[in-house]
Amino acid sequence: MSNLHTVLENISRAAQAAGRSPDEITLLPVTKYYDLAQIQELIDAGVTRMGENRPQQLAERAQLFPQINWVMIGRLQTNKAGLIARYASECQSVDSVRLARALDRRLDRALPILLQVNISGEESKTGFAPQQVPEALEVAEGLEHLDVRGFMTMAPHSDDPTVARETFRKLRELRDKVAPTLPELSMGMSGDFPQAIAEGATIVRVGSALF
Ligand SMILES: *Cc1c(COP(=O)(O)O)cnc(C)c1O
Repeated sequence: MSNLHTVLENISRAAQAAGRSPDEITLLPVTKYYDLAQIQELIDAGVTRMGENRPQQLAERAQLFPQINWVMIGRLQTNKAGLIARYASECQSVDSVRLARALDRRLDRALPILLQVNISGEESKTGFAPQQVPEALEVAEGLEHLDVRGFMTMAPHSDDPTVARETFRKLRELRDKVAPTLPELSMGMSGDFPQAIAEGATIVRVGSALF
């Protein structure tokens, strides 16, 4: 049995605590740890959109479950851009101008994307540095097939919940400053989605809490 309903309840609770409507927040279930039976269970429970962090696995699962909108959330080498152009309904992990161009070249339809931002500056994390974002945005918005919808980030690992919250607040402030009309902020995972919701997340990507 999945914990889907508990996760949805916790999202609603976090939204209410933040004075937001739960309708403003979308759960993106992340299925990278789970097998096909578990994916089927989520489908039976009404899930229509799922996130994967490896292009090969996303492509395989998109062929097995074509009724699902598959969302790429992980690091993507430009030589795998073709797989995502073909099989993903959205890419939240565009972390370089080179990748944006590679995706655009391989697309023959519009692809919603988010620019991934490395707010914390950790070397282990991918993403644009905040100061690179205005220029990246200009390039991506000029590409024919990319539909830039907003930003994605990951918080550093920390036992201190205020560290994650600070990261999410900075992403929201960056969006408000450089692209106030872009609607989406994808931030928050199993361990920190309440803090992300408190700071304005519109998409939370939850994997390990689902089962
Ligand atoms: C795995 C993953 C998640 C989900 O993480 P959990 O901690 O398992 O909820 C979210 N975002 C990205 C980019 C991931 O790779």
